[in-house]
Amino acid sequence: MTGEAAMAAIAFIGLGNMGGGMAANLAKAGHAVRAFDLSAPALAAAQDAGCTPCSTVADAVTGADVVVTMLPNGAIVGDVIENQVIGTAPAGALLIDCSTIDVATARRLAEVASAAGHPIVDAPVSGGIAAARGGTLTFMVGGTDQAFAAAQPILAAMGKAVIHAGADGAGQAAKICNNMLLGATMVATCESFRLAERLGLDLQTFYDIASKASGQSWSMTSYCPVPGVGPQTPADNGYQGGFATALMLKDLRLAMGAAQEAGAPVPMGHLAEKLYAAFAADGHADRDFSAIIKTL
Ligand code: NAD
Repeated sequence: MTGEAAMAAIAFIGLGNMGGGMAANLAKAGHAVRAFDLSAPALAAAQDAGCTPCSTVADAVTGADVVVTMLPNGAIVGDVIENQVIGTAPAGALLIDCSTIDVATARRLAEVASAAGHPIVDAPVSGGIAAARGGTLTFMVGGTDQAFAAAQPILAAMGKAVIHAGADGAGQAAKICNNMLLGATMVATCESFRLAERLGLDLQTFYDIASKASGQSWSMTSYCPVPGVGPQTPADNGYQGGFATALMLKDLRLAMGAAQEAGAPVPMGHLAEKLYAAFAADGHADRDFSAIIKTL
């Protein structure tokens, strides 16, 4: 694999909501994609999208230049990479983990992979299912300069931005810090709208003011939690689709774990985590995370 135009043999493990669209975009870009998932329907969809379905991880990584993983959590990524990819994938194959996992596991996997001669990057994404399908994800990448340079053209086929965040684990660190900020600003945006309402303000008027004033944030101007105000968002669709509360809670918990390990005080993140945990436990885990405005 040399340079931007080179087509690669890619093993893609984890063809769920996100991985399904990402693997399809790699195939569309002309790469030879051997795909594996435990789910038969996911595998069939990948085949329809131009990937070669495989019956095991070992089968998928046969002849691979690159192995991409897009899996639910660190325990599963660890099991797949340590027990199924390393020792089976060709010597020197580049490993790209796009899952959102804890920083500590990402760093440990980088050590294990490097010791086995595999360049590796952690490359979690910003953007949801629509961005995965549309090839407009943003990748935050941790790893060496050489590993980043090798991963960049592969990631570019699945996204609109590929950013080198730093050394091993830096991609995951950037992802959870960003999403902790998002969780806290969403709750703050929701409570501001509720207070504005109680104080008799017209919500469209408050939006027009705050979106041009110092209270402006992405949660307000790109993802407004109030139906009928601002751009089209999940709020206008009964809080369906978008970014599920369960996934926000997952990222907040990862952030809390990292903060504890690093000894960093995160009082706002901690409160957001508590509020989202209660909201999920109340039966709203599948709703878009901006639906938390309903609790205020
Ligand atoms: P998902 O549950 O839809 O997909 C995960 C897939 O992994 C499933 O198809 C499952 O069958 C498969 N899988 C599980 N264990 C496996 C194994 N051992 N071997 C092979 N396949 C296995 O999840 P998703 O929404 O696609 O999310 C994937 C990752 O992306 C997660 O880490 C998530 O936090 C992150 N993420 C998701 C979103 C989103 O909006 N959905 C956004 C950003 C990041």
